[in-house]
Amino acid sequence: MTTKLCSKCKNEKDINLFVLDSRRSTGHGAKCRECANLDNSKYQKEHREQANNCQARWIKNNPEKFKEMAKKRDRKERLLLKRVYVIKELISGSVLKFSDVTTDLIELKRAQIQLTREIKKCQSKLTQN
Ligand SMILES: [Zn+2]
Repeated sequence: MTTKLCSKCKNEKDINLFVLDSRRSTGHGAKCRECANLDNSKYQKEHREQANNCQARWIKNNPEKFKEMAKKRDRKERLLLKRVYVIKELISGSVLKFSDVTTDLIELKRAQIQLTREIKKCQSKLTQN
């Protein structure tokens, strides 16, 4: 059994309990798996907290910019949703497959949906009067 001294916990452990590291001549890292995992999760936690703090600080310092960005993201999502909606409308009840859908078709279908909505609006106005 080959053993190795962990650089972190200073315990002598079986070589198989060490992380693999191809950059090292031994093929194994200096730290045992336990220590490496511990370090990784600690690093990730700290890093995440740091990133969150950084974001929170930025939002606090740039409230207008943040609002603007949120608005832009909303608009983008709405557009995307619209597109998805139109594609669904195009495909449902037709012979078209998703791969058949082109930008032109989407535009046409969008126009058709808008036209149908306008007609409905007119009709409801007419029936109201
Ligand atoms: Zn260790």
